[in-house]
Amino acid sequence: MTDSTMNADVIIVGGGPAGYAAAVYAARASLQVLVVEQGMPGGQIATTDEVENYPAIQEISGAELGQRFQEHAEALGAKTVYAMVTAVRHEEDQTFTVVTDQDELRAPSLIMATGATPRTVGFEGEDTYRGRGISYCATCDGMFYRGKKVFVIGGGNAACEEAMFLTNFASEVVVVVRRDQFRAPKGVVDRMLANPKISVKYSTSVTKVEGGTFLHSIAFKNNESGETYIEEYPEGSFGVFVFAGTLPQTELFSGLVELGGDGGVITEENMATKTPGLFCAGDVRSKQLRQVITAAADGAIAGTAAYQYVSEFRK
Ligand SMILES: Cc1cc2nc3c(=O)[nH]c(=O)nc-3n(C[C@H](O)[C@H](O)[C@H](O)COP(=O)(O)OP(=O)(O)OC[C@H]3O[C@@H](n4cnc5c(N)ncnc54)[C@H](O)[C@@H]3O)c2cc1C
Repeated sequence: MTDSTMNADVIIVGGGPAGYAAAVYAARASLQVLVVEQGMPGGQIATTDEVENYPAIQEISGAELGQRFQEHAEALGAKTVYAMVTAVRHEEDQTFTVVTDQDELRAPSLIMATGATPRTVGFEGEDTYRGRGISYCATCDGMFYRGKKVFVIGGGNAACEEAMFLTNFASEVVVVVRRDQFRAPKGVVDRMLANPKISVKYSTSVTKVEGGTFLHSIAFKNNESGETYIEEYPEGSFGVFVFAGTLPQTELFSGLVELGGDGGVITEENMATKTPGLFCAGDVRSKQLRQVITAAADGAIAGTAAYQYVSEFRK
């Protein structure tokens, strides 16, 4: 770093898998790297008990995996700043100012790795039983429902695709749709309905789940008749998957990037956005598969691209 008014060569917003993978690659390329994280490092994965699909690690807790991402980046010289980023400015001199709730930071390059959050539907018990019967990710948690009954909430493409995927594990999949029809394309719906393990509750909402350590009951409301009813099961014998959409966290820099149909940031193959020096990596991008491995891969590419950008910028 040559300019003393800069805090780093690259600032990375978000200390999840994408952010710390970017930090590993940028730090190994000798850049000075700051990762700004508002909460517990590790991102979304730190909130789950078991991760069984990160290659080369058969089983690990999400918290430990998140911590290892951070430790690896910091061992290479990256530093973590614990603060919430409240605004991002692209200055006339082409540098970036990152405004946090504590300080302002400056760098010639910025990687946004702010992640995404699954949309919740708001029934009673949804938050309480998250990770103990309520899930938002079939790829992550489908395995844990082998031989069990599963309810899928949602009427869109993701709900149909994930319901079909869940039949690889579950004994039975019941799709709960708010309206009297699906929003997903007809071809997808027809393929789903042809699966003998799948049935549908139309015009129905889940209003409540209850349980002990895991779930034992689920309450429904028929949105046409107003009828409500409860289904009881042995504790832990069923699960609920919610597919109501994903919210990529783009508010901070929405003016500096282009967004895709899923609300995620559109990037070039090297994670570049329409603003020179600004890269995006991980779940915040517009993409098909939001997982640790894809976030880490994005981060690796963004960290390398930031190095190339900063090298040119310094000339
Ligand atoms: C319950 C659950 C279970 C999952 N299980 C699996 C699994 O088994 N296997 C798998 O591969 N994937 C799993 N996933 C998905 C995986 O966690 C994500 O795909 C991955 O974490 C995305 O990484 P990311 O770095 O892009 O974003 P995130 O992990 O979302 O990290 C973004 C980080 O940015 C920070 N941040 C956001 N805004 C700001 C701001 N303004 N200022 C400062 N910091 C900010 C956040 O606090 C967060 O730490 C699971 C997800 C969930 C929710």
